[in-house]
Amino acid sequence: MSLWRLLGSFLVSQLQNVSTVDLYYVCQVVDGVARQPGNFLRHIEDIFGDASSVLLVRRFPRWTSFHIFIEEVIASLIWENANNRSDVVANGLWIDHLLDANEDAISDEQWDKINSHRRMVDGYFDMLRDEQIIADISEHVAKQVFHVLFSNRGTMKAFGEMVTYYLQSAAISFEPDAFCKTGSLKRVGIPAWAKSAVFHRDKGRCVFCKTDLTKLFSQLDAINYDHIIPLAAGGANCVTNLQLSCSTCNGSKGARHSDTSDEYEVWFDQIETASRRVRVYAHHTHATNTPPPVRQHRCA
Ligand SMILES: [Zn+2]
Repeated sequence: MSLWRLLGSFLVSQLQNVSTVDLYYVCQVVDGVARQPGNFLRHIEDIFGDASSVLLVRRFPRWTSFHIFIEEVIASLIWENANNRSDVVANGLWIDHLLDANEDAISDEQWDKINSHRRMVDGYFDMLRDEQIIADISEHVAKQVFHVLFSNRGTMKAFGEMVTYYLQSAAISFEPDAFCKTGSLKRVGIPAWAKSAVFHRDKGRCVFCKTDLTKLFSQLDAINYDHIIPLAAGGANCVTNLQLSCSTCNGSKGARHSDTSDEYEVWFDQIETASRRVRVYAHHTHATNTPPPVRQHRCA
């Protein structure tokens, strides 16, 4: 297999390895913490406070601050589960479940150690930590969680707002050269890979007014890679802080105003399906004189 084919299969294979229950559980926790840090605040201080805040100054890192945040949330969930004896008795160790569901994230050597330690309660977690196994599994699952949450610009905005404080209060004292005199990060060029990712996520349309920016039908509208949290408002030079906008919407957003939209493009039109189902239910009721089956899911 050529290197490019190999790379391609690596890029598309991540989501097949984790159960949707685990994936959406972590997504829900990460999204919840980003929007309301509350009890998790002490951990966030550890991740992005003081000298660690320089993580936020990096220029378009591919392993973003949001990846790091997700990894830390997963590691916290693993430890929280392990320390909850009744949960462990009822459901087993979550780390064991994650390990079994993500076999390929673990090397043969690590598996040997896991299998030889699993029956010993004492020291099992020390071994998992010392052998980098918790870090490896957290990284592996974080890629999958990122894949899901990157699509949600609301989560990206919430995360960006959460780290603004650390950028402006701590990072500026460790890396002053990265900042303008006004206290905002210096603007840097956006790499092609970041533009491509944002363009495809936002389906080539302005996220506010839905103007088609693909230039397939009109070449007049310029594409703007807009900072969700403007640099002047404490935003970062990060792919997670970008969105597509047209010139008009970009101009009206203002340099210090953070905004995005929660609209997303559906894969296909579901209106016809919904109205057809109404007809099917009506037919069912007429033919059997019984109410239609209870719907399990609300349809948009
Ligand atoms: Zn627009």
